[in-house]
Amino acid sequence: MARLIIMGPPGSGKGTQAEHIARHFGIPAISTGELFRTHVRDKTELGAEASGYMDRGDFVPDHVTTAMLRVRLEEADAAAGFLLDGYPRTVIQIGALDEILADRQQTLEVVLELNASDDELLSRMLRRAQEQGRADDTEPVIQRRLELYRDQTQPVLKAYSNRGILLSVDGTGERQTITKAAIAALEDALAV
Ligand code: AMP
Repeated sequence: MARLIIMGPPGSGKGTQAEHIARHFGIPAISTGELFRTHVRDKTELGAEASGYMDRGDFVPDHVTTAMLRVRLEEADAAAGFLLDGYPRTVIQIGALDEILADRQQTLEVVLELNASDDELLSRMLRRAQEQGRADDTEPVIQRRLELYRDQTQPVLKAYSNRGILLSVDGTGERQTITKAAIAALEDALAV
């Protein structure tokens, strides 16, 4: 059973890493950002509610985000574990996730952090903006997302570090090298 979280600043490549790591462990990678983008594409009510926040690089309100995540975690494929990507992003969301898991008599095993320098992050995000044309990858929006990460999400890392379940991996360099290092570190931590 692997119930994991991947964390890292915008542009750290965590979405791609999440896919590879989750495949290795045979669990779904569940990205709240990706769930939102699917809702926006499918023009659902939830998508309409979320899109304004996303376009500005702001957080979607907790009641929307947490309800969406709760529903996703109830799907059958998440019963054997999951790798969460993009949640929790605030200390309040830590508590919400704890509640969702407690209702299911589940706990978190490991939180994996991908590290990268601000320079590397900015250049990766601008490159991704060109490749994928994401509406939330313009410079002011990127700055806003980096600022929210520093102010709101860094404290989440600290909280998990205090719980003794935070694992940090260098997120710079080749994609495959980072994936290997992340998997090795996770296997070590899960074997204890
Ligand atoms: P991401 O792909 O993880 O960078 O998420 C894209 C956007 O979705 C974010 O900039 C937020 O607007 C929204 N979002 C994703 N996850 C959350 C979350 N946990 N809380 C609030 N908003 C979120």
